[in-house]
Amino acid sequence: MGLFERAVLSTLPYVPTPLMRRLASRYIAGERLEDALARIAALQAAGHASIIDVLGEDVRDEAHCREVVDAYKRCAEAVSERRLDCYVSVKPTHVGLKLSEELCYSLYSELAEHCRARGLFLRVEMEDAPTTDGTLRVFERLRPSFANVGIVLQSRLFRTPDDIRKLAPGPLHVRMVKGIYLEPAAIAHTEPQPIRDAYVECTRLLIERKACVSFATHDEQLADRLIPLAEGSGQPREAFEFQVLLGVREPLWSTWKARGQRVRVYVPFGPEWRPYSLRRMRKNPQILKHVMKAALTGG
Ligand SMILES: Cc1cc2nc3c(=O)[nH]c(=O)nc-3n(C[C@H](O)[C@H](O)[C@H](O)COP(=O)(O)OP(=O)(O)OC[C@H]3O[C@@H](n4cnc5c(N)ncnc54)[C@H](O)[C@@H]3O)c2cc1C
Repeated sequence: MGLFERAVLSTLPYVPTPLMRRLASRYIAGERLEDALARIAALQAAGHASIIDVLGEDVRDEAHCREVVDAYKRCAEAVSERRLDCYVSVKPTHVGLKLSEELCYSLYSELAEHCRARGLFLRVEMEDAPTTDGTLRVFERLRPSFANVGIVLQSRLFRTPDDIRKLAPGPLHVRMVKGIYLEPAAIAHTEPQPIRDAYVECTRLLIERKACVSFATHDEQLADRLIPLAEGSGQPREAFEFQVLLGVREPLWSTWKARGQRVRVYVPFGPEWRPYSLRRMRKNPQILKHVMKAALTGG
């Protein structure tokens, strides 16, 4: 990335909201649940399953956490009423991990129960490194009671292979990601190739444990290493799928589908779309070009 692009990146937080909303619209379904449901139904018609995410992270207090849980319950009700192939995915800090681990556990339990009653799966997402221990503890407490709950693991972190080994025996559902949070070199790989190699290594360990693994990536080079691993695993095809972000590298979704892989699309929505969109834009030089153009033309 050039100096100019870096300079534009640093101005992103100051981009006016209407322009940001326009730029972000390819990454988010909209502000309302109805927007997300319409997008999920359209994806389903095109042959893709989905994941629904209520945008937001960190919460003020317990009352705010409960509002978040209620929003997720409405999502679960809506997707099950409409018989959409979609599950829910929740960030631990959005349900209070930084306020109280006990509260976070009890809210995830409540939501897991609500999802189970509707035949839905619930994903515990993974955030930055200071939250990893707490998130794994909450997940391990949920596992004995809820077979419908899975976790996310980040190949960027040096600790992840050990974390996999330490997870209690039993059925296991993992979304493997590289990790969106740029962690310090003391605890994480920082270059693309070691992050990819670690991803493959973690996948091997998960396959040894007969885990169901979702490959959340848009990296075709990595996918070319993962598909043979899944196919040679001896596990049923349904144990694996690719997961992608709304608006990111859509031609690749069809390529993977044509290779017999299931593709599930992450559909985020909600009024708190700004921090999520900023993270996505930082990954995408094309969007940066639009920001520069808009800044220069006043558009
Ligand atoms: C369904 C899903 C759920 C996720 N959940 C989590 C989570 O819980 N915790 C977490 O830390 N991370 C999560 N991530 C993010 C993940 O960790 C990576 O940061 C992200 O997927 C980008 O890495 P990549 O594997 O696609 O490879 P990269 O090497 O980053 O990208 C591969 C290619 O895709 C392109 N690309 C990637 N992202 C974008 C984008 N936003 N816009 C345009 N092009 C892009 C790149 O330019 C490159 O060409 C999730 C990702 C997905 C798909």
